[in-house]
Amino acid sequence: MTREPRPFRHQAFIDGAFVAADNGATFAVRDPATGAVLAEVPDLGAAETRRAIEAAERALPGWRGKLAKERAQILRRLHDLLLADQERLAQIITAEQGKPIAEARGEIAYAAAYFDWFAEEGRRVYGDVIPQQAREKRILVFKQAIGVTAAITPWNFPSAMIARKAGAALAAGCTMVVKPAELTPLSAIALAEIAQRAGVPDGVLNVVTTNDPASVGAELTSNPTVRKISFTGSTEVGKILLRQAAENVQKCSMELGGNAPFIVFADADVDLAVKGALATKYRNSGQTCVCANRFLVHRDVAETFAAKLAEAASRLKVGRGVEPGVVIGPLIEEAAVEKVERLVADARARGAKVLTGGGRHELGGNFYAPTVLVDARQDMQIFQEEIFGPVAAVTPFEDEAEAIRLANSTHYGLAAYFYSRDIARVFRVAESLEFGMVGVNESLMSSEAAPFGGVKQSGMGREGSKYGIESYLEIKYVCLGNM
Ligand code: NAD
Repeated sequence: MTREPRPFRHQAFIDGAFVAADNGATFAVRDPATGAVLAEVPDLGAAETRRAIEAAERALPGWRGKLAKERAQILRRLHDLLLADQERLAQIITAEQGKPIAEARGEIAYAAAYFDWFAEEGRRVYGDVIPQQAREKRILVFKQAIGVTAAITPWNFPSAMIARKAGAALAAGCTMVVKPAELTPLSAIALAEIAQRAGVPDGVLNVVTTNDPASVGAELTSNPTVRKISFTGSTEVGKILLRQAAENVQKCSMELGGNAPFIVFADADVDLAVKGALATKYRNSGQTCVCANRFLVHRDVAETFAAKLAEAASRLKVGRGVEPGVVIGPLIEEAAVEKVERLVADARARGAKVLTGGGRHELGGNFYAPTVLVDARQDMQIFQEEIFGPVAAVTPFEDEAEAIRLANSTHYGLAAYFYSRDIARVFRVAESLEFGMVGVNESLMSSEAAPFGGVKQSGMGREGSKYGIESYLEIKYVCLGNM
């Protein structure tokens, strides 16, 4: 395996210091486009995690005790420093995660936006004075930082998923221990370094790198000092963490998997729908939780839509994310390619047809060709599972009722999209879809100002927006008597 130079900081970050594992153990971080080792990163365990939690506990009174305005100034500086370093940070994302550099730059801007947004939200954490219910008593409501919190984040957005949690936590006055995905710890380390430069005090934000997520996750959920865990990742791991957190009645926010329907009605602007489909399906090579997963298209327009989508998909340039013009990078690892192969093989065996792609890309390695399948049906695995690859499968439907029934026939409920020019239908369908987020004639809807999150087995809680900070605050009722 080739070894590239090490431009990356590659230590864990606890209590303001960059540290190695107690026993010196490390694990390799690889470039998914080439397999090259980018860095060896400390493989921490439960003991170091406990130390990070203790550091976060020590830092809590000082951080919580700052004025909201003082925390806001630091978070705003963090936002500015992230943008000032956008190019280098984007290169780290592309190196360890594979996404095209333009998307990586976009992710850094998106991550920075959360710090800016929550810097402001933190200044608007208002309590209440509730009208008196008895003459001699007063009812007050305080909102206070929950305390020490933990975040476990996925590899598909190695920077933004941390920012979405840490921005809200730090603005609320909480401290945090972050466990980034083992495939992409370098972006987390870089973020910690910039946070320190921005003036985030020692212990307020810690990064525990590990190749043994189960033991670090067990410590983060069983340690009674940690009052809240915020997780983004698969539904399967989310359930494990919920079970573990139950023991201490630890608060939980869960951003889990999705199986987004993308419905094209007969009255839709088909060209707009194709444009939207391209953007939501092939972004990050199909590896986002809000990627369209099932294309439900009215029988009258299904053939036209699929043909146009296949034509456009076949022109998407595949390659290393650092190369100019590339819009489809590699999948994250060989196992991800194998999963996509399994889903496509099952669909073909049950009668789906390939319009374009249908297999690994000629570049080999972790590259998979942008693919469009038609005649997909509900009984296929590709309809039921998260694809997490650049494959669009088109399923025709007859009428609105069938489209809604098919769309809702999943235990996931994160994002949904539909295209229609009928205003009455827009309201009916938006109300009927059992999903946390619905895009209408729009396929890119994430924003720091909007509530992000799912229903059913896609999770609980919302991130971003004015709602995002609430999950890092406790409500305290104070009753003044004998006044
Ligand atoms: P994953 O669940 O395998 O891993 C997510 C994180 O959990 C990683 O940090 C991993 O190390 C950790 N982890 C794994 N096993 C653990 C355990 N036993 N205890 C504690 N931590 C453990 O998911 P992934 O493959 O990294 O990410 C892809 C998944 O994330 C997809 O399902 C995707 O839909 C979902 N996702 C959801 C959102 C959202 O906001 N809803 C955003 C991005 C990704």
